[in-house]
Amino acid sequence: MRVYLDHNATTPPSPAVVEAMTRALREVVGNASSVHAFGQQAKAALDTARDAVAELVGGQPSEIVFTAGGTEADNLALRGIAEAAAPLDRRHIVVSAIEHEAVLNTARALARRGFAVTIVPVGASGVVDPQAVREALTPATALVSVMHANNEIGTVQPIAAIAEIAHAAGALLHTDAVQSAGKIRVDATSLGVDALSISAHKFCGPKGVGALWARRGARLVQQMTGGRQERNRRAGTENVPGIVGLGAAAREALGAPGKTERIAALRDRLEAGVLELVTGTAINGSTAQRVPNTTNISFAGIEAESLLIALDLEGIAVSTGSACSSGTLEPSHVLKAMGLPAPRTQSSLRFSLGSTTTDADIDRVLAVLPGAVSKLRSLTARPSRPKTVDA
Ligand code: PLP
Repeated sequence: MRVYLDHNATTPPSPAVVEAMTRALREVVGNASSVHAFGQQAKAALDTARDAVAELVGGQPSEIVFTAGGTEADNLALRGIAEAAAPLDRRHIVVSAIEHEAVLNTARALARRGFAVTIVPVGASGVVDPQAVREALTPATALVSVMHANNEIGTVQPIAAIAEIAHAAGALLHTDAVQSAGKIRVDATSLGVDALSISAHKFCGPKGVGALWARRGARLVQQMTGGRQERNRRAGTENVPGIVGLGAAAREALGAPGKTERIAALRDRLEAGVLELVTGTAINGSTAQRVPNTTNISFAGIEAESLLIALDLEGIAVSTGSACSSGTLEPSHVLKAMGLPAPRTQSSLRFSLGSTTTDADIDRVLAVLPGAVSKLRSLTARPSRPKTVDA
């Protein structure tokens, strides 16, 4: 039996998504910029997807810019807004310490190009304090970027409060909603943000496709130059099958009431089971406001990578943090930013559930995990063998 609990890394595309993409690949063969019927058919497919994505994020279809994923959407937001604001003497950017690398490393790249960057710290809760954002703002702040839900611990950030604070200082607010879209309600208008990123493969769509919602009137300089696609905000022939897949995933997410509660119940059962069956375990981050599918648990005395491999050998896939940093043995920058001590950051695993997760999956993890932990603990506790000395 194989159990996939790494949905924050990526989700398997749903059958409806595969079906819609296959049909688009086969039947929608034109270039959406062409005037003939083939082109208009492709444009109609993009428009249908654009409507669904706009509805998913609570925006207007004309405010959606299709991109090649969440990373590109984040880059377009940060670089595009920074470049538009620089001539107005706004050359300061504020990001939180628990952002995904797509935001953090883009902010660092902008710092190398002369922008001032402030990284707002977080406490052990893994929730950004709006007051800390207020303290970071200056009259030169162009943009604040704080994610909606954290990819490693699942905490949901107080975006609406941060938006008010950023706007009062004349700055725009971008939120990376890659880990919230399709999981919880995302409404750009009630969040009060100016730009918002999503990525299809985090909610049962294809990899390599995403979108930036940018509020009408928000000034943004295009980063991909070339043709006039996407209302001149992102050049390049559109990835029609991918975008159709994104649209299908958005429509499925919109039409799946009850999914959230089912996944949250499975996550809560997994979490309660682990805490009860395995000693020396603790949840990382606040559990008050979380996406329903994520839990991050530390296992005292265990090296997370070893436990990950032990579980993998049993057919269970989990993660030590974000997919980008896993495999590097670098401690998670999120857990580090929360001030957790090194032994705890190095002993933490992320379990992220999805729409394909079943009760049987949770049973299997709860059956395997206690033994795997005990075995690893006994290995590390064993006294070292006396060395043999060559004669
Ligand atoms: N932002 C967050 C919060 C993510 O979790 C990810 C992916 O892990 C990204 C951005 C990057 O998205 P993509 O993989 O579509 O480039």
